[in-house]
Amino acid sequence: MRLSAVLPRLFLTALLAGSVAAEASGEGPILRMLVPRTRDGIAPDQLAHIQAAVKAYEKRRGAPAKDEAPYTYAFFPQAGILGQDLFLNNFTDLDPKKSTFQDWDCSEYTYDGHTGHDSLIRTFREQEIGVPVFAARDGMVVDTHDGEPDMNTVWDEKNKANYVIIDHGDGYYGWYFHFKAGSVAVSPGQTVTAGTQIGLTGSSGISNWPHLHFETRKGDAWVEPSTGPCHPGESLWDEQPPVDRDLYVDDFSLTPGEIPLPEDDSFLFDDAKRTSTFVQGYQVVTVRVDLRNLPANSRISMRVLNPKGQEARRVFVGVGDGSFYSLADLIVPIGVYLSPSGTWRAQVTIDDNLLLDAPFQVVATARQVKNRPPRKVALRLSPLPVGGGEVVSCQVQTSLVAEDPDYDTVRYRYEWRVNNRLVRTVTSAALTDLLASGLTKPRDKVNCKVTPSDGKASGPAASAQITLAP
Ligand SMILES: [Zn+2]
Repeated sequence: MRLSAVLPRLFLTALLAGSVAAEASGEGPILRMLVPRTRDGIAPDQLAHIQAAVKAYEKRRGAPAKDEAPYTYAFFPQAGILGQDLFLNNFTDLDPKKSTFQDWDCSEYTYDGHTGHDSLIRTFREQEIGVPVFAARDGMVVDTHDGEPDMNTVWDEKNKANYVIIDHGDGYYGWYFHFKAGSVAVSPGQTVTAGTQIGLTGSSGISNWPHLHFETRKGDAWVEPSTGPCHPGESLWDEQPPVDRDLYVDDFSLTPGEIPLPEDDSFLFDDAKRTSTFVQGYQVVTVRVDLRNLPANSRISMRVLNPKGQEARRVFVGVGDGSFYSLADLIVPIGVYLSPSGTWRAQVTIDDNLLLDAPFQVVATARQVKNRPPRKVALRLSPLPVGGGEVVSCQVQTSLVAEDPDYDTVRYRYEWRVNNRLVRTVTSAALTDLLASGLTKPRDKVNCKVTPSDGKASGPAASAQITLAP
């Protein structure tokens, strides 16, 4: 990873238009957090330490064990669903020229000199709850580091990362970076099976967003595991993660009043109260929409509709600087007279397409404001064949907007049973969890039970079962 400048960010002040906006009062600036791309790195002294540790390890080990099957990855080594609660923002930079860059699919989901895959979680909210990182294949742990601060948001070459380095066989290594402090769960000399939790996602080291940097190395060189028009050959993925280029919402919330945003990076440290019940009368409602892949010059409009479907307020947010933004978090306070009581709606439209339509309640008195538990989820259990067995994935199928009726952040309690014996429990902010291949054998009955919670109230538990192949 090449060391580079502090991430560019743009903070622009209020840009209000439309007939109703002019008469609004109590509205602060619209915050538009637009990040062309995130950047990360490895501190030079840590890099030197890892290279020495790998060299010493190889001397002890001798020639790498040769696998019969080709070297592949059966799953992405982090909890979550790519293109939903996980966003692959950077692949490796396959353009050798300085100052230009290109990913394997001939687009710009990378930055100059990047050497791995950066998969971003949404904010430090999810980091706090926990987002597991897993060993991508069976292997031997070569080197680890833990105990470094894990909420970095600015580029600083002195920042040391919490990391895990694993020998995955065939001369390949997995480098896993930026873990949450105190979360590294393996130690050098330990053998791990595919799908073993090795730590939690964080933002330690040279990192400006909570994410996993997953790097594939062969010998001394990094390798791009994905293949495509700008990187021909055999992919190292059983199911290659695509480049997500489509616009989508990865979080939405409503907050009573204005949210104080003292620092440039406040949007990542989101602890604003979330609700979907407001007391009748004049209110400032702060709408937060976290977007991925916002097209250049998007015309964004936010509307508040009363129970009759009539427009009570409309606010325009212009993003007219001609740039495409893979990450855009909008925080918009809207002053609105909320009367009568009933079901209101907040709508977000981008370039005339209705992107989301979120109901909220207006009630007569503060006593009627109640927290509601998360909604019921559906599960999908999938066996993922790996070299020595099967990793099982348990996927929560829900909506990142409607998962909770109050738009609260939801955490999921995963309980795994093999032949009715409890073998793994974890509370995670992610929409998937994995059961390591070492915990099962052929014909085992595997059960995954998931209970969603908003931190105060639990929603209904769901459960799914499969029998592994003979
Ligand atoms: Zn990276």
